[in-house]
Amino acid sequence: ANGAHVPAVVIGSGYGAAVSALRLGEAGITTTVLEMGRLWNEPGADGKVFCTMTAPDERSMWFKRRTEAPLSTLLWLDVVNRNIDPYPGVLDRINYDDMSVYVGRGVGGGSLVNGGMAVVPRRDYFEAVLPGVDAAAMYDRYFPLAQAELQVNTIDPEFYAKTEYYRFSRVAAAQAEAAGLKTVFVPDVYDFDHMEREAAGDAEKSALGGEVIYGNNHGKMSLDKTYLASALATGNVTIASRHQVTAIEIDADGNYALTVEHRDDANELIESKRLTCRHLFLGAGSLGTTELLLRARDTGALPDLDEAVGAGWGPNGNVMTARANHLWNPTGLKQSTIPVMGIDDWDNPEARVFAELAPLPAGIETWISLYLAITDNPERGHFTYDAAADKAVLNWSLEQAQPGVAAAKSMFDRINRKHGTSYRYDLFGDDRAFADDFCYHPLGGCVLGEATDAYGRLNGYERLYATDSSLIPGSIGVNPLVTITALAERNLEAILAADFA
Ligand code: FAD
Repeated sequence: ANGAHVPAVVIGSGYGAAVSALRLGEAGITTTVLEMGRLWNEPGADGKVFCTMTAPDERSMWFKRRTEAPLSTLLWLDVVNRNIDPYPGVLDRINYDDMSVYVGRGVGGGSLVNGGMAVVPRRDYFEAVLPGVDAAAMYDRYFPLAQAELQVNTIDPEFYAKTEYYRFSRVAAAQAEAAGLKTVFVPDVYDFDHMEREAAGDAEKSALGGEVIYGNNHGKMSLDKTYLASALATGNVTIASRHQVTAIEIDADGNYALTVEHRDDANELIESKRLTCRHLFLGAGSLGTTELLLRARDTGALPDLDEAVGAGWGPNGNVMTARANHLWNPTGLKQSTIPVMGIDDWDNPEARVFAELAPLPAGIETWISLYLAITDNPERGHFTYDAAADKAVLNWSLEQAQPGVAAAKSMFDRINRKHGTSYRYDLFGDDRAFADDFCYHPLGGCVLGEATDAYGRLNGYERLYATDSSLIPGSIGVNPLVTITALAERNLEAILAADFA
């Protein structure tokens, strides 16, 4: 209700936020979670909660008039995207000048739209990226805890070896291995028992039915089924969906006062509320958390926030590319949407790359091998607050993406040379073989130990915390969800022990 006070508020409901909500709830602290996206639990007219990738409707994207899929064309034709009605759909694409960022919107954040790949980073790289964090505690305790809570599992290699749904992956893996590269299975939060039942015809198809970036109707253990369900079960946590925080202030008693806009599905304002809390956790994602803090600092609402807020952003070296296979190497009409294998060449000092073998579930034979490469790109961008637009603007140039492109090119040139194959130039617009202008893994903006102390407490204030991907300085070398979760577990444990006495 308007003017209400709660002990703790969590902004957002992705990984960092969900961990915070559960651990606060377990500690007996009454907590309100504010999420701007929808609660995705009710079927639409077609009986499904989410739409598919091949027939997207208004549920697909966040207030767009046309879908903006990562692969926009095939044979340079705009056959992928569809006109849609503006609606609070589950996937957003935020377009800055030289970089577009995909994020999830809804109760569960990115877990609703992502591939669920749950990879623990290499310890030496983790130590280099976050030297202030006790790596022994992370690898002994918090990574295993995160994996257990997230219900991480791995595909049965026998199922993988036989099923037509992973032909695309076997073809790409064999080619990488023939070129002397190492491949590894990648764990995931998609329930592989469910996937095997899908293949056998005993369960409704989701991963095997072309669903992922616009939501999975079955099979995926997204946060609403894990951390957030456990948080609600404590009885101390409530989640308010379609509630967007637009401003943060501090009152004379040191409570945080939030401006919160509750909107309907047509985006009409139902109510603008003022909510106060003692402890405030920002889990709105790298972009969302950074924007709220920059606005608070630069409008003078929280003037003592560190100058480092806004700095240290990177796309986790994301570069997408695709190769054209020979006619005798079809990649399969049927493709699971969940990648389960990666090429691991992180030991190559010339070009450190960890590349997922990604599906292209087009429903037709394409002979395409698609990859999402994670590269060790040292470039960093930063956000500034544009007062006139009341928005955070990302300062990142296409030149800054080039070290990542060069590393990816070195890996895939090697595979092409070995097999006499070439790149596909028709998938990303503009005759480009490498998509260097969008990412799935935004990291940083409120870097741990720079804008915050060693546990995510914002410098300059008390009882104010960043708890999500904004803490990680731009790169982690693998898909980031497990690291975000484990880091939040570690930080919350310390914060609950010290700040709630
Ligand atoms: P998020 O998960 O981004 O959640 C933030 C939430 O806060 C969102 O729900 C948002 O709506 C809400 N929010 C933002 N601003 C406000 C506000 N002002 N008020 C209220 N609510 C707000 N990672 C992996 O590890 N493995 C993968 O396989 C993988 N695949 C991906 C595929 C896609 C298509 C995408 C988009 C991402 C993928 N990722 C993957 C990345 C991963 O999903 C993100 O790194 C992760 O979700 C970030 O977690 P977070 O806690 O920082 O916040």
